[in-house]
Amino acid sequence: MVRRCSVDPAVVSVDLGGTNLRTAILTKNGDIFDRSKQATNVSEGHRKIIRRLIDDIERQRKNAEARVLKIAAVGVGAPGVIHADSGVVVKSPNFPDWNELPLKQELENGVGLPAFIENDANAAAFGEYWRGAGKGVRSLIFITLGTGVGGGIVLDGKIWHGADGMAGEIGHMTILPDGRACGCGNRGCLEMYASSRGIVMSYLEAHASAGTSGSSVGVTSESIYNAARKGERSAVAVMEQMGRSLGIGIANLINIFNPEMVVIGGGVRDAWPLFIEAARSEIRQRAFAFPAERTKLVPSDLGDDAGLAGTAAVAFEQLH
Ligand SMILES: [Zn+2]
Repeated sequence: MVRRCSVDPAVVSVDLGGTNLRTAILTKNGDIFDRSKQATNVSEGHRKIIRRLIDDIERQRKNAEARVLKIAAVGVGAPGVIHADSGVVVKSPNFPDWNELPLKQELENGVGLPAFIENDANAAAFGEYWRGAGKGVRSLIFITLGTGVGGGIVLDGKIWHGADGMAGEIGHMTILPDGRACGCGNRGCLEMYASSRGIVMSYLEAHASAGTSGSSVGVTSESIYNAARKGERSAVAVMEQMGRSLGIGIANLINIFNPEMVVIGGGVRDAWPLFIEAARSEIRQRAFAFPAERTKLVPSDLGDDAGLAGTAAVAFEQLH
């Protein structure tokens, strides 16, 4: 009798952020092994970053062999406009010298494995769909509330990329027609009210108009959450305002997409109890009642691992 040694397929998943470059090995079950993290060092330029990335993937390949896993592909999540089919990074605000960069091709030439590139927020949405809060649903919208506001849309089990790979820019939905100027050129974007930066701006504005700007030194989003938890009125009001802005955005998404679930991730998720009732109340007032009632509004399950899981899921799916 011939004994067959089975080698399970796995992928190297890469979360290529503006600050950190993280890699890990993921199996089809979503198990994560051999996490590694290094500074991205954007100023080094794309040549050196890609070289380091290739070295890290090779190292993970050896780690995988030691675990009797066979790396079948590489999945990369990166910020910016990504053409997912060709694997070209069209442009990325975090990487100023990445213009029309054929990342898929460079990685495939470097490591000799199929590589799949996805926008980081789309990847996080797909990660929650695959193994996180959205396990078992067919359509969900993922909103990440961090320094900015990003998003990803999964419809019938597929990431919705849009005609130019730019779909899911939920953070730049207009919430207030004459609101704060946003870096995108618009005014009153959701990002200007529901991101950690927006929350700090709201707090400073409230204190400035109350003539108490002197107390605003060293204000961070965390210090505002803590003040709100202790019942400081202006901090509570700022978090409710944030929740209302988020609720307006989600009500629009519910009316347009009728999703089964809206998943909230990013650092601001930690302040969930401070904003969620205001958001729910706004959704009840603005969205159609039936889809609003059935849409589950939940915090992200995978947290920082959503992106790693999502790029792995993209890679496994593309391999088949
Ligand atoms: Zn904007």
